[in-house]
Order: sequence, then C-alpha cells, then structure tokens
Amino acid sequence: MLVRLRNPDRVEQVPGPRTVADLLDHLDVNPTTVLVIAGGQLVTAGHTLSDTAEVELRPVISGGAGPVRCVECRGPAIIEEPRHRSSWCGEHFVDHVQRQIRKAVDRGNGEGGGGPEQRMFSYGDKILVAVSGGKDSLALWDALVQMGYKADGLYIGLGIGGYSDRSGAICKDFAEARGLKLHLVDMQDEYGYTTPTGSRASNRSACGVCGLSKRYIFNRVAVDNGYDVMLTGHNLDDEAATLMNNVLHWQEEFLVRQKPLLPATGPNQVRKAKPLYRLSEREMAAYCVIRGIEYIVEECPLVDGNTGTAHKDTLSEMERTMPGAKAHFLFGFLDKISPQLSVRDANGDPVELHECTQCGMPTTGDLCAFCRQRNRILPILAQPAQR
Ligand code: AMP
Ligand code: ZN
Ligand code: ZN
Repeated sequence: MLVRLRNPDRVEQVPGPRTVADLLDHLDVNPTTVLVIAGGQLVTAGHTLSDTAEVELRPVISGGAGPVRCVECRGPAIIEEPRHRSSWCGEHFVDHVQRQIRKAVDRGNGEGGGGPEQRMFSYGDKILVAVSGGKDSLALWDALVQMGYKADGLYIGLGIGGYSDRSGAICKDFAEARGLKLHLVDMQDEYGYTTPTGSRASNRSACGVCGLSKRYIFNRVAVDNGYDVMLTGHNLDDEAATLMNNVLHWQEEFLVRQKPLLPATGPNQVRKAKPLYRLSEREMAAYCVIRGIEYIVEECPLVDGNTGTAHKDTLSEMERTMPGAKAHFLFGFLDKISPQLSVRDANGDPVELHECTQCGMPTTGDLCAFCRQRNRILPILAQPAQR
C-alpha cells in the first residue's frame, strides 16, 4: 500500500494487508498524533488495509507544522529549547543567554530579592573569569564583556600535555583578538608540579589534585590582584550532575557549599560565583557557534569514567521525556533547601577561617589543604627516579 506522511511530506510503500494499528507500529508513529484516512474515509485501529490501499496519515497536533519561528521577531529560528518552549533566531538567542546570565547575577543565591549585597557582582566590580579554553568559560567571558562588565581572564597551565597547550593557545588567542587582559599561571613554574606528576606522586586521582590546585590558584590570583569576585563557567548540567552526586551520597558538607554565590567569609578570600548555572551545556555550545567563539572541543584526557559524566547522561535521559527536569531539580534545591543549610563545624558552630601558616590563604586548620598536598608531592618529585 502507499502511505502518505506529512511534516515532512513523504510517501512510503508498505506491504499489506495489515491493520491500521500494525501499520502505525511499523512506521513508529504514535496513534494519538494522527488521523488515518483510507479511500477518503477515517478508519480505526482495527481496520484492515489491503495491499493496494492508499492511506494518508494526517497529523493532528497543531503548532508543529511549518518552519519554526523566533519567539521574539518571528524570523526563522535556528535553535529551540523545549525547557522554555521557545525557539530563537541567532540574534535573539544571544539575548536569551545574556538575559539568563543577568537573572543569575541579579538573584545571587535568590535570597532577599537581589539587593546590591545579594548580587553576584556589579558594574563597578573588578571581575576575574577562570577560563579553561572550553565553551562555557569563554562564552561567559564574552557575554560579560558584551554586557559591559569589567572582566579579566585567568588561565592555569595544568601541564596535561598537548591538551593544555591547545587550550592555553585558545585562551590567549581569545584575549588577544578582543584586547582583553589574561593572567597566565603555569603550575609547574609557580608550584613545582603538574596535574599528572602531582597525581602520581601523591597517589591521588588526577581530578582530585587538579580540582584542589585550581580552586586554590583561582582564589590566590584574585586576592593578589585585588579582584572583587572570581567566576567559573559551571553550567546547569554541571551543577545538576554535582547535585545528583551529592544527594546520592548525602554529602552534606558539599551540599552546603553548592550555591551559585559564595561570599568571602575570611581573610584573603574572594567572593566566588557561577553565573551560568541557569544555562545548559547545549545552550553554551550554541552561543559559542553563533558568536564565532573558538573553543576546545576535546575533553581532558585524564577524565575517564568520571561519575559526573554518568550523572549527566542520566539527567539528559530524564530531560528527553520531561523537558525542564534538570532545571526543576537544581532550582528547587537552590530555592527550597539551600537557604536552610549553613556551614557548621562538628559542634554545630559556624566555621571560622584562619590564615594558613605556610601561605596565608584561608583554612580551617593550621596548614591549608593545598599546602598539605604540595608538601607531600614536592619531596617525592625531588627524588631523581621520580621525575
Ligand atoms: P572543570 O573543572 O573542567 O569542569 O571546569 C569548571 C570551570 O573551572 C570552568 O568553567 C572554568 O571556569 C574553570 N577552569 C577549568 N580549568 C581551568 C584552567 N585550566 N584554567 C582556568 N580556569 C579553569
Ligand atoms: Zn529573532
Ligand atoms: Zn597554604
């Protein structure tokens, strides 16, 4: 039989006889989304169609037909986001991304309606963006500059072979092309080890050594250069996956700190914020393509079988059948649970920070975690056989 399908218009040859239900199943068409018309008559699921029948499957769900249009200007859309039930042209998609950043910046942690103290930062602030060469952090830097903020970049050379060389070059080119200031810190030169050598020497995971080192250097560079706030490119997918991991393991000490804005609470500590927490991975990649931002597409070679990726896959699978699931999960936590959590020590008292006796950076003990890690790594690397 000849079967005509719409949106897109096409004709399929399907052998008969078979029932309408069987035909729809064969074509993978959901019966509730179409009318089946044979010989000008509507037919039901049990009706048998002969081998010579001419059949039309007519869609009944309106709104899906025709070219998709931009919600702002009705011009042809180039990207859709089911979570917002919206589509945009390139220009208005850029506006959408910057609007979401603006919302994040103004809300801070969403407490108290976003007064000046609750905001992530203001136009007068000196802003430092940690850029990895990936889509998120470069898009963030680009968007902030477009929005009129004063933002410099920081790239840390982690010594991960060609991957670090290529991501560093991308950040330098980005800054140079736009006349922006980029701080460069080479871990080997400044601190005497790299992510791979530090990981081997301390027998800790590369991601563990790397994460601790990066967080320390972010704060250090921001403090040393008088920045008011330090930003990272963590997006909605990153934060939802981290939340999922923290909830699965009930990591209270991490849940407490999973906020879009962490104020400075001690000496030598700078405020930290994640202005992309309302935007997905896919939205950030699209922003880069539309804005012509070159970024490193390859993933860090040291990350494999990371739980973050598994949680991202699980959440994306949920998002497919339930658009908005990721955002509901994360924003619900931030609105309802996070405000009730605060950092406490074992006695239930607020945690007090002191200066690390070795480097002066904030810590709860005598030596900060970074100095302790580095003090373990350097003597091992100093042994000739270990180099
Ligand atoms: P990741 O830890 O790789 O998921 O990156 C999270 C965020 O940390 C990025 O969006 C950047 O803001 C920042 N970041 C990661 N790697 C670097 C790096 N090598 N130098 C500076 N910032 C980085
Ligand atoms: Zn438009
Ligand atoms: Zn220290």
